[in-house]
Amino acid sequence: MRVGHGYDLHRLEPRPPAGNGKSFVLGGIQIEHSTGPVAHSDGDVLLHAVTDAILGALGLPDIGQLFPDTDPKNESADSAIFLREAVDRMRKAGWEIGNIDCTIICEKPKIGPRRADIVANIARLIGCAADSINVKGKTHEKVDAVGEGRAIEVHVCALLKPR
Ligand code: MG
Repeated sequence: MRVGHGYDLHRLEPRPPAGNGKSFVLGGIQIEHSTGPVAHSDGDVLLHAVTDAILGALGLPDIGQLFPDTDPKNESADSAIFLREAVDRMRKAGWEIGNIDCTIICEKPKIGPRRADIVANIARLIGCAADSINVKGKTHEKVDAVGEGRAIEVHVCALLKPR
């Protein structure tokens, strides 16, 4: 078996013209919120961390190396494309998902009400069972940038098993 860790953080800002925040999308699910991620792609911090956990388990270059933010092709890209590429590489290398455990850290919005949608969508994108995916939400206890609502961060562990 192989294990990988993924981490990502994005700044959160109001939508233009007040800031540069994009729509708030998490695990491919749109969530109504007053701020959104500042990003070159669609800013889906959860899919970025899941992608990096899988790539990390495979010992491959990370998402920033495979999909540089200097490449205009990745401008506002749907992050599902990044995840699908990682999953493709995983299958070609002879591995499949054992399980994936995700921790989302932000003050707002609350993750709980959308958790089931997020889990189902990640499982759909990967092509694995929903009970192989776990998603938890935590706050940052109002301290530092994450706790002040100026950023969102995600940690992910992915276990791969031979196909
Ligand atoms: Mg990112």
